[in-house]
Amino acid sequence: MTKFNTKLIHGQDQHDNSTGAVNVPIYTSSTYKFPSVEATLNWDYSRSGNPTRGYLEDQIADLENGARGFAFSSGMAAIHAVLAIFKPGDHIIVADTIYGGTFRLINEFFKRWQLDFTAVDTQDLDAIKAAIRPNTKAIYFEPVSNPLLKVTSVKAVAAVARAHDILTIVDNTFLTPYLQRPLDLGADIVLHSATKYLGGHSDVIAGLVVTKTTELGDAIYFNQNGIGGVLSPEDANLVRRGIQTLAVRMDRHLSNAQKIAEFLDSRDEISKVYYPGLDGTLDHQIATAETDGYGGVVSFDLAPGLDSIKFVESLKLILLAESLGAVESLIELPYKMTHAELSPDEQVAAGITHQLVRLSVGLEDASDLIADLKQGLEQVTQAKGGDALVADRSNS
Ligand SMILES: *Cc1c(COP(=O)(O)O)cnc(C)c1O
Repeated sequence: MTKFNTKLIHGQDQHDNSTGAVNVPIYTSSTYKFPSVEATLNWDYSRSGNPTRGYLEDQIADLENGARGFAFSSGMAAIHAVLAIFKPGDHIIVADTIYGGTFRLINEFFKRWQLDFTAVDTQDLDAIKAAIRPNTKAIYFEPVSNPLLKVTSVKAVAAVARAHDILTIVDNTFLTPYLQRPLDLGADIVLHSATKYLGGHSDVIAGLVVTKTTELGDAIYFNQNGIGGVLSPEDANLVRRGIQTLAVRMDRHLSNAQKIAEFLDSRDEISKVYYPGLDGTLDHQIATAETDGYGGVVSFDLAPGLDSIKFVESLKLILLAESLGAVESLIELPYKMTHAELSPDEQVAAGITHQLVRLSVGLEDASDLIADLKQGLEQVTQAKGGDALVADRSNS
């Protein structure tokens, strides 16, 4: 068996390769010729299956140690296809902090189809047990939460779920299979927004699902083919290519993020740094036990009175943008941008203050990133004395 880094590059045999090409071609054909009416074909119509997409699907199934992989036109399409395996009357436990789009899909779409959801703190196993009902079919969570990077033990949650005959579904966008393989830790389904680290270059929207068993794979396949949110062959090729460099990119994300977290932690202008790589928290303990690294996202609270809007707008190298997991560093204010859909009360309950900043650390030189953060901090501290509005903009 080849090791993980080798699998990234040489994971799969070429489908249908008679040319010697080292990469799978981008098959743009929507349909395929039948040699005879009775023939059974590998490929007959590209919603049902496409060789370029199939390559990526085999690639991700292999990396996650799963039975089957599926590629979708977005992370949300992947999540939709997964939650659509349940039926009216089923109950699903979800983590109390999940991606905003998932929260919206659950609350404004699946509730209409009589799926029932209970949100719990997934670090609290007793809370999970207390939420289990006779009709509970699954628990859904992100091992590293967004934007506060709280860490949930996949092993512990999956053990509780298994004991109650409940599926464990993990959105592992933040860690990728390079840092954690949830199926090996007991999960049944793992999914990704491949838009983030797997694609890695801010140039594709895509989603991936891997199932532990072929039976679950059949259920996901029915939804992929039946609902039809498939990834195009062109985009499947971009994700395939991104995955080949996942290990080297993640290593740089990790080392840059650790340096930046430590820099921020040393500064008086920062009142709190959220990064599982920093010692002394439960998040650090769980992540150390179950992951091969702490990820590339660092969040932090600017000290009270410092203008967070001015801070992010004053950065010169780090781009003010949503999304994460790309080669370039991206910074944003959750309360105004990624998490603006939450009401002010929901934001406070989720720990999202007006001082909270989320940074997706890219692959640039760490010293350049730190210099940019430093000049931004200097600008807001200099401005503090003269700007009477600052205090009003920062809630607690
Ligand atoms: C971005 C993201 C999604 C949604 O994926 P899209 O590709 O944007 O549809 C889901 N979960 C997490 C954790 C994400 O970061």
